Amino acid sequence: MTQKTYQRIVLASRPQGSPVAPTHFRLEQATVPTVQPGQVLVRNHYLSLDPYMRGRMEDMKSYAAPQPVGETMVGGTVGIVEASQHPGFKPGDAVVGYLGWAEYGLSDGKMLNKVDTTHVPLSAYLGPVGMPGVTAWYGLRRICEPKPGETVLVSAASGAVGSVVGQLAKSIGCRAVGIAGGPEKCAYVRGELGFDACIDHREHTDLKSMGQALKAAAPDGIDCLFENVGGVGFDAALARMNAFGRVALCGLIAGYEGGDIALQNVRALLVNRLKLQGFIVAEHLDAWPAALAELGAGVASGRIKYRESIAQGLAAAPEAFIGMLHGKNFGKQLVKLT
Ligand code: NDP
Repeated sequence: MTQKTYQRIVLASRPQGSPVAPTHFRLEQATVPTVQPGQVLVRNHYLSLDPYMRGRMEDMKSYAAPQPVGETMVGGTVGIVEASQHPGFKPGDAVVGYLGWAEYGLSDGKMLNKVDTTHVPLSAYLGPVGMPGVTAWYGLRRICEPKPGETVLVSAASGAVGSVVGQLAKSIGCRAVGIAGGPEKCAYVRGELGFDACIDHREHTDLKSMGQALKAAAPDGIDCLFENVGGVGFDAALARMNAFGRVALCGLIAGYEGGDIALQNVRALLVNRLKLQGFIVAEHLDAWPAALAELGAGVASGRIKYRESIAQGLAAAPEAFIGMLHGKNFGKQLVKLT
């Protein structure tokens, strides 16, 4: 039975620097809409919290329009269809969509896809078998193009994207090196995910120290850099790149709240004849079917391992989001809504 009201979180005001939960987010009650012809009503079970949302909170030039103030925060969701007047969906269907920080969402079906939860848990469609997994797949396969025996370095290695990058690199026969925050995350990256080495960036906060750690972890140099963070790790890695190395510039989370991500080793791009390419996974929809097929099979068989940080209830979303921007998450950050 559909409940009459539901909760949603709207952007209350635009942050500068780190967001503050009560200032920049507002929890509101709304009325569950009635489904009209062509529409689908979804009860969201999990909300995905992703670093890109921090960028949308600001009104600045970017690849996507800013999140409007006073409207439901954007976000990926998985849930179950509760009512439908759309020929492609029926009540009970499990779906992945983009219904935002809300317990319910109404869709015209365009950005809603049915998913099979027989072998892959629903929540994984927001992680390794969803946008973060495809991001890892695209950046590694289409930009880095590593060959067996090469060394792949990925930052934020225990996270939603980084964890998949390292496991895919290992499956190709590469040496996988991660950078992560803290001994517990590094132990997981090596022990559970099977990386060959992991550097704790909290122990190596300057270029010289990080450079030495990279030399030990990647003794043959770095052929592929999958960059998620920016700052010291990125800068030091550029200096360790081999000739004709490839850099997939996926994210710069260290700079999302205004942190310094200036580079000193720019010269390495030239002298090492590097290819560096930034990319936005949503612009490469042609790659998604092949990526999702491989990732889904990997998760279903247990070959691809993943971890989730799950906050309970929509009201917990702002603090969980802010925590993720500061590395408090351990694996894919989700909010459980049911
Ligand atoms: P994660 O699950 O990796 O969570 C974010 C992690 O970033 C934190 O856990 C923390 O890990 C790390 N981090 C945050 N701040 C810093 C800092 N100052 N220095 C070092 N590490 C930091 O998030 P995702 O896997 O979802 O995203 C990873 C990156 O990929 C982000 O930059 C994101 O914007 C980008 N991305 C890009 C896409 C694209 O299309 N280009 C699509 C999806 C994601 P730790 O504690 O280990 O440092």
